[in-house]
Amino acid sequence: MNKKNAGLEFAKSCRKIIFIFLPFFLISCDKKISPQFQTSLGTVCFVNLYEDGKKSIYDEIAARISEIDGEFNVNKDDSEISNVNKNAKISPVKVSDDFAFVLKTALKAAEISDGDFNPALGKLIKLWGINTENAHVPKLQEIDEAKSHCGWKKIIFDEKNQTVFLDDEEMSLDFGAIAKGFSADEIAKICKEKNVRRAIIDLGGNVLAFGKKSKNEKWNVGIKNPDAPESEVSEVVSIEEGSVVTSGNYERYFIQDGKRYHHILDGKTGFPAESGLKSVTVICGKSIFADALSTAFFVAGKEKSLALKPLFEEKFGEKIEVVFIES
Ligand code: AMP
Ligand code: MG
Repeated sequence: MNKKNAGLEFAKSCRKIIFIFLPFFLISCDKKISPQFQTSLGTVCFVNLYEDGKKSIYDEIAARISEIDGEFNVNKDDSEISNVNKNAKISPVKVSDDFAFVLKTALKAAEISDGDFNPALGKLIKLWGINTENAHVPKLQEIDEAKSHCGWKKIIFDEKNQTVFLDDEEMSLDFGAIAKGFSADEIAKICKEKNVRRAIIDLGGNVLAFGKKSKNEKWNVGIKNPDAPESEVSEVVSIEEGSVVTSGNYERYFIQDGKRYHHILDGKTGFPAESGLKSVTVICGKSIFADALSTAFFVAGKEKSLALKPLFEEKFGEKIEVVFIES
Protein backbone atom coordinates (compact mmCIF):
# COMPACT_ATOMS: atom_id res chain seq x y z
CA MET A 1 0.00 0.00 0.00
CA ASN A 2 1.40 3.36 -0.94
CA LYS A 3 1.46 6.28 1.48
CA LYS A 4 -1.63 7.97 -0.06
CA ASN A 5 -3.80 4.83 0.21
CA ALA A 6 -2.68 4.22 3.76
CA GLY A 7 -3.75 7.77 4.62
CA LEU A 8 -7.16 7.20 3.05
CA GLU A 9 -7.66 3.93 4.94
CA PHE A 10 -6.77 5.66 8.18
CA ALA A 11 -9.26 8.49 7.51
CA LYS A 12 -12.02 5.91 6.78
CA SER A 13 -11.43 4.03 10.02
CA CYS A 14 -11.46 7.31 11.97
CA ARG A 15 -14.83 8.18 10.43
CA LYS A 16 -16.17 4.73 11.42
CA ILE A 17 -15.00 5.25 14.98
CA ILE A 18 -16.67 8.69 15.08
CA PHE A 19 -19.94 7.25 13.73
CA ILE A 20 -19.90 4.48 16.30
CA PHE A 21 -18.98 6.64 19.27
CA LEU A 22 -20.72 9.97 18.53
CA PRO A 23 -24.26 8.73 19.34
CA PHE A 24 -22.90 7.11 22.48
CA PHE A 25 -21.18 10.38 23.40
CA LEU A 26 -24.36 12.41 22.77
CA ILE A 27 -26.46 10.00 24.84
CA SER A 28 -24.02 10.12 27.71
CA CYS A 29 -24.07 13.96 27.55
CA ASP A 30 -27.84 13.74 28.09
CA LYS A 31 -27.49 11.62 31.16
CA LYS A 32 -29.98 11.57 34.00
CA ILE A 33 -29.24 14.07 36.74
CA SER A 34 -30.67 14.80 40.15
CA PRO A 35 -33.64 17.17 40.66
CA GLN A 36 -32.68 20.78 40.04
CA PHE A 37 -32.84 23.95 42.15
CA GLN A 38 -32.58 27.43 40.68
CA THR A 39 -32.91 30.84 42.30
CA SER A 40 -35.14 32.87 40.04
CA LEU A 41 -38.55 34.61 40.02
CA GLY A 42 -37.64 35.94 43.47
CA THR A 43 -37.67 32.47 44.99
CA VAL A 44 -36.14 29.01 44.91
CA CYS A 45 -37.45 27.01 41.97
CA PHE A 46 -37.34 23.23 42.35
CA VAL A 47 -38.10 20.74 39.60
CA ASN A 48 -38.08 16.94 39.87
CA LEU A 49 -38.59 15.01 36.64
CA TYR A 50 -38.12 11.62 38.33
CA GLU A 51 -37.25 8.80 35.88
CA ASP A 52 -37.23 11.15 32.88
CA GLY A 53 -34.85 13.64 34.49
CA LYS A 54 -32.46 14.18 31.60
CA LYS A 55 -29.98 17.03 31.68
CA SER A 56 -31.24 18.43 28.37
CA ILE A 57 -34.80 18.77 29.72
CA TYR A 58 -33.67 20.35 32.98
CA ASP A 59 -31.55 22.79 30.93
CA GLU A 60 -34.51 23.74 28.76
CA ILE A 61 -36.64 24.32 31.86
CA ALA A 62 -33.92 26.42 33.51
CA ALA A 63 -33.62 28.55 30.37
CA ARG A 64 -37.39 29.07 30.23
CA ILE A 65 -37.48 30.11 33.91
CA SER A 66 -34.69 32.64 33.26
CA GLU A 67 -36.52 33.94 30.20
CA ILE A 68 -39.72 34.50 32.21
CA ASP A 69 -37.71 36.18 34.97
CA GLY A 70 -36.31 38.51 32.31
CA GLU A 71 -39.86 39.45 31.35
CA PHE A 72 -41.49 39.93 34.75
CA ASN A 73 -38.76 40.87 37.22
CA VAL A 74 -39.49 44.43 38.37
CA ASN A 75 -36.04 44.66 39.94
CA LYS A 76 -34.31 44.18 36.60
CA ASP A 77 -33.94 47.46 34.81
CA ASP A 78 -34.04 45.84 31.38
CA SER A 79 -37.02 43.53 31.96
CA GLU A 80 -40.12 43.81 29.84
CA ILE A 81 -42.24 44.89 32.80
CA SER A 82 -39.72 47.62 33.72
CA ASN A 83 -39.90 48.87 30.17
CA VAL A 84 -43.69 49.09 30.33
CA ASN A 85 -43.44 50.88 33.69
CA LYS A 86 -40.85 53.36 32.38
CA ASN A 87 -43.18 54.23 29.53
CA ALA A 88 -46.14 55.06 31.76
CA LYS A 89 -48.09 57.98 30.31
CA ILE A 90 -45.41 58.25 27.58
CA SER A 91 -46.33 55.66 25.00
CA PRO A 92 -47.94 52.27 24.44
CA VAL A 93 -45.44 49.43 24.51
CA LYS A 94 -45.60 46.39 22.26
CA VAL A 95 -45.37 43.32 24.50
CA SER A 96 -44.46 39.64 24.09
CA ASP A 97 -47.01 36.83 23.92
CA ASP A 98 -46.08 35.82 27.49
CA PHE A 99 -46.66 39.34 28.75
CA ALA A 100 -49.96 39.72 26.93
CA PHE A 101 -51.25 36.41 28.28
CA VAL A 102 -50.27 37.12 31.88
CA LEU A 103 -51.68 40.65 31.73
CA LYS A 104 -54.94 39.46 30.21
CA THR A 105 -55.37 36.89 33.00
CA ALA A 106 -54.43 39.47 35.65
CA LEU A 107 -56.98 41.94 34.31
CA LYS A 108 -59.67 39.26 34.32
CA ALA A 109 -58.85 38.46 37.96
CA ALA A 110 -58.89 42.19 38.81
CA GLU A 111 -62.25 42.70 37.18
CA ILE A 112 -63.96 39.68 38.78
CA SER A 113 -62.52 40.41 42.24
CA ASP A 114 -63.26 44.13 41.89
CA GLY A 115 -59.59 45.01 42.40
CA ASP A 116 -58.80 42.65 45.28
CA PHE A 117 -56.33 41.19 42.81
CA ASN A 118 -54.56 44.23 41.43
CA PRO A 119 -51.61 44.03 38.99
CA ALA A 120 -51.06 47.81 39.27
CA LEU A 121 -49.91 47.91 42.90
CA GLY A 122 -46.27 48.58 42.01
CA LYS A 123 -46.05 51.96 43.70
CA LEU A 124 -47.63 50.75 46.95
CA ILE A 125 -45.50 47.59 47.00
CA LYS A 126 -42.35 49.67 46.60
CA LEU A 127 -43.45 52.07 49.34
CA TRP A 128 -43.92 49.29 51.91
CA GLY A 129 -40.66 47.68 50.79
CA ILE A 130 -41.62 44.30 52.26
CA ASN A 131 -38.84 41.77 51.75
CA THR A 132 -36.30 44.55 51.20
CA GLU A 133 -33.97 46.35 53.60
CA ASN A 134 -36.35 49.29 53.41
CA ALA A 135 -39.37 47.49 54.92
CA HIS A 136 -41.29 49.94 57.16
CA VAL A 137 -44.77 51.26 57.89
CA PRO A 138 -45.17 54.33 55.66
CA LYS A 139 -46.90 57.54 56.71
CA LEU A 140 -50.65 57.66 56.02
CA GLN A 141 -50.15 60.52 53.59
CA GLU A 142 -47.60 58.47 51.62
CA ILE A 143 -49.98 55.50 51.53
CA ASP A 144 -52.81 57.67 50.22
CA GLU A 145 -50.56 59.15 47.56
CA ALA A 146 -49.27 55.74 46.40
CA LYS A 147 -52.78 54.28 46.48
CA SER A 148 -54.02 56.95 44.10
CA HIS A 149 -51.65 55.54 41.45
CA CYS A 150 -52.84 51.95 41.70
CA GLY A 151 -56.01 52.17 39.62
CA TRP A 152 -55.81 49.04 37.50
CA LYS A 153 -58.50 50.41 35.14
CA LYS A 154 -55.85 52.79 33.84
CA ILE A 155 -54.02 49.86 32.32
CA ILE A 156 -54.94 50.17 28.66
CA PHE A 157 -54.38 46.82 27.00
CA ASP A 158 -54.88 46.71 23.25
CA GLU A 159 -55.20 42.99 22.69
CA LYS A 160 -55.30 43.21 18.91
CA ASN A 161 -52.07 45.15 18.59
CA GLN A 162 -50.63 43.55 21.74
CA THR A 163 -49.68 46.88 23.33
CA VAL A 164 -49.92 48.16 26.90
CA PHE A 165 -50.28 51.77 27.94
CA LEU A 166 -50.32 52.92 31.56
CA ASP A 167 -52.49 56.00 31.67
CA ASP A 168 -50.90 57.37 34.86
CA GLU A 169 -47.27 58.41 34.90
CA GLU A 170 -46.77 57.24 38.49
CA MET A 171 -48.34 53.84 37.93
CA SER A 172 -46.33 50.63 37.80
CA LEU A 173 -47.22 47.02 37.21
CA ASP A 174 -46.21 44.15 39.48
CA PHE A 175 -46.89 40.53 38.52
CA GLY A 176 -45.50 39.01 41.72
CA ALA A 177 -48.84 37.37 42.47
CA ILE A 178 -49.20 35.58 39.14
CA ALA A 179 -45.79 35.09 37.44
CA LYS A 180 -44.84 31.96 39.37
CA GLY A 181 -48.09 30.27 38.41
CA PHE A 182 -47.52 31.16 34.77
CA SER A 183 -43.97 29.76 34.95
CA ALA A 184 -45.17 26.50 36.47
CA ASP A 185 -47.63 26.05 33.59
CA GLU A 186 -44.85 26.79 31.08
CA ILE A 187 -42.61 24.17 32.69
CA ALA A 188 -45.49 21.69 32.53
CA LYS A 189 -45.75 22.45 28.79
CA ILE A 190 -42.10 21.50 28.32
CA CYS A 191 -42.67 18.30 30.31
CA LYS A 192 -45.56 17.42 28.01
CA GLU A 193 -43.55 18.13 24.85
CA LYS A 194 -40.68 15.98 26.10
CA ASN A 195 -42.96 13.10 27.12
CA VAL A 196 -41.98 13.36 30.76
CA ARG A 197 -44.18 10.93 32.63
CA ARG A 198 -44.39 12.70 35.97
CA ALA A 199 -42.89 15.75 37.63
CA ILE A 200 -43.11 18.00 40.65
CA ILE A 201 -42.64 21.69 40.01
CA ASP A 202 -42.32 23.77 43.16
CA LEU A 203 -41.67 27.46 42.64
CA GLY A 204 -41.43 28.76 46.19
CA GLY A 205 -44.55 26.96 47.36
CA ASN A 206 -46.38 27.36 44.07
CA VAL A 207 -46.71 23.63 43.39
CA LEU A 208 -47.71 21.87 40.19
CA ALA A 209 -47.94 18.10 40.08
CA PHE A 210 -47.55 16.98 36.47
CA GLY A 211 -48.76 13.55 35.34
CA LYS A 212 -49.87 10.73 37.60
CA LYS A 213 -47.67 9.92 40.59
CA SER A 214 -48.21 6.19 40.07
CA LYS A 215 -51.00 3.80 39.12
CA ASN A 216 -52.56 3.78 42.56
CA GLU A 217 -51.14 6.78 44.35
CA LYS A 218 -52.13 10.41 44.34
CA TRP A 219 -49.77 13.31 44.91
CA ASN A 220 -49.85 14.65 48.46
CA VAL A 221 -49.13 18.36 48.84
CA GLY A 222 -48.79 19.78 52.34
CA ILE A 223 -50.31 23.10 53.38
CA LYS A 224 -48.08 24.83 55.90
CA ASN A 225 -49.26 25.72 59.35
CA PRO A 226 -49.18 29.56 59.17
CA ASP A 227 -48.04 29.67 62.82
CA ALA A 228 -45.16 27.23 62.29
CA PRO A 229 -44.48 27.36 58.53
CA GLU A 230 -40.98 25.92 58.75
CA SER A 231 -41.85 22.87 60.75
CA GLU A 232 -45.50 21.93 60.49
CA VAL A 233 -48.05 20.94 57.91
CA SER A 234 -51.62 21.62 58.89
CA GLU A 235 -53.41 19.91 56.02
CA VAL A 236 -52.50 17.55 53.21
CA VAL A 237 -54.17 17.90 49.83
CA SER A 238 -54.32 14.76 47.66
CA ILE A 239 -54.62 15.31 43.94
CA GLU A 240 -54.40 13.22 40.77
CA GLU A 241 -52.58 16.09 39.06
CA GLY A 242 -52.79 19.88 38.94
CA SER A 243 -51.66 22.86 40.92
CA VAL A 244 -51.79 23.75 44.61
CA VAL A 245 -50.92 27.35 45.45
CA THR A 246 -50.97 29.07 48.81
CA SER A 247 -50.92 32.76 49.69
CA GLY A 248 -50.20 33.36 53.35
CA ASN A 249 -49.37 36.10 55.82
CA TYR A 250 -46.30 34.19 56.97
CA GLU A 251 -44.47 34.12 53.61
CA ARG A 252 -42.92 37.60 53.55
CA TYR A 253 -43.38 40.07 56.34
CA PHE A 254 -41.72 42.37 58.85
CA ILE A 255 -42.59 43.22 62.43
CA GLN A 256 -42.78 46.80 63.67
CA ASP A 257 -43.87 47.74 67.20
CA GLY A 258 -44.95 44.16 67.79
CA LYS A 259 -47.27 44.05 64.77
CA ARG A 260 -46.77 41.87 61.72
CA TYR A 261 -47.02 43.48 58.28
CA HIS A 262 -47.19 40.97 55.42
CA HIS A 263 -46.73 41.23 51.66
CA ILE A 264 -50.28 40.88 50.31
CA LEU A 265 -51.70 44.36 50.05
CA ASP A 266 -55.26 45.58 49.85
CA GLY A 267 -55.27 48.29 47.20
CA LYS A 268 -58.41 49.79 48.72
CA THR A 269 -56.89 50.45 52.16
CA GLY A 270 -53.25 50.64 51.08
CA PHE A 271 -52.35 48.29 53.98
CA PRO A 272 -51.58 44.57 54.18
CA ALA A 273 -54.91 42.80 53.71
CA GLU A 274 -56.80 41.96 56.87
CA SER A 275 -59.63 39.72 55.84
CA GLY A 276 -59.61 37.31 58.75
CA LEU A 277 -57.36 34.79 56.99
CA LYS A 278 -53.89 33.46 57.64
CA SER A 279 -53.67 31.60 54.37
CA VAL A 280 -55.64 30.58 51.31
CA THR A 281 -54.81 27.55 49.19
CA VAL A 282 -56.28 27.17 45.73
CA ILE A 283 -56.31 23.85 43.90
CA CYS A 284 -56.84 24.09 40.17
CA GLY A 285 -55.66 22.53 36.90
CA LYS A 286 -53.82 25.64 35.76
CA SER A 287 -51.22 27.12 38.05
CA ILE A 288 -51.63 30.68 36.74
CA PHE A 289 -55.26 30.69 37.93
CA ALA A 290 -54.40 29.08 41.26
CA ASP A 291 -51.70 31.73 41.82
CA ALA A 292 -53.89 34.70 40.91
CA LEU A 293 -56.83 33.37 42.90
CA SER A 294 -54.94 32.53 46.08
CA THR A 295 -53.88 36.18 46.22
CA ALA A 296 -57.31 37.51 45.24
CA PHE A 297 -59.07 35.31 47.82
CA PHE A 298 -56.61 36.24 50.54
CA VAL A 299 -57.56 39.90 50.08
CA ALA A 300 -61.27 39.21 49.53
CA GLY A 301 -61.77 37.05 52.64
CA LYS A 302 -63.68 33.81 52.94
CA GLU A 303 -67.27 34.90 52.32
CA LYS A 304 -66.62 37.06 49.28
CA SER A 305 -64.28 34.43 47.83
CA LEU A 306 -66.86 31.66 48.13
CA ALA A 307 -69.41 33.92 46.47
CA LEU A 308 -66.98 34.68 43.62
CA LYS A 309 -65.76 31.11 43.11
CA PRO A 310 -68.46 30.03 40.60
CA LEU A 311 -67.84 33.13 38.50
CA PHE A 312 -64.09 32.48 38.42
CA GLU A 313 -64.77 28.85 37.47
CA GLU A 314 -66.97 30.01 34.62
CA LYS A 315 -64.57 32.69 33.34
CA PHE A 316 -61.43 30.60 33.68
CA GLY A 317 -63.09 27.37 32.55
CA GLU A 318 -61.49 25.42 35.42
CA LYS A 319 -62.80 23.71 38.50
CA ILE A 320 -61.44 25.41 41.63
CA GLU A 321 -61.14 24.15 45.19
CA VAL A 322 -60.14 26.31 48.14
CA VAL A 323 -58.78 25.72 51.64
CA PHE A 324 -58.99 28.69 54.02
CA ILE A 325 -57.02 28.89 57.24
CA GLU A 326 -58.71 31.53 59.35
CA SER A 327 -57.13 33.86 61.85
P1 AMP B 1 -48.71 35.85 46.32
O1 AMP B 1 -47.63 35.39 47.23
O2 AMP B 1 -48.89 35.02 45.10
O3 AMP B 1 -50.01 36.02 47.03
O4 AMP B 1 -48.28 37.26 45.73
C1 AMP B 1 -47.88 38.33 46.54
C2 AMP B 1 -47.04 39.24 45.73
O5 AMP B 1 -47.88 39.85 44.72
C3 AMP B 1 -46.49 40.41 46.54
O6 AMP B 1 -45.17 40.16 46.96
C4 AMP B 1 -46.58 41.57 45.57
O7 AMP B 1 -45.48 41.56 44.69
C5 AMP B 1 -47.83 41.26 44.78
N1 AMP B 1 -49.10 41.69 45.41
C6 AMP B 1 -49.34 42.08 46.69
N2 AMP B 1 -50.63 42.33 46.89
C7 AMP B 1 -51.26 42.09 45.71
C8 AMP B 1 -52.62 42.17 45.28
N3 AMP B 1 -53.61 42.54 46.09
N4 AMP B 1 -52.89 41.88 43.98
C9 AMP B 1 -51.91 41.51 43.13
N5 AMP B 1 -50.62 41.43 43.48
C10 AMP B 1 -50.28 41.70 44.75
MG1 MG C 1 -50.51 34.56 43.87
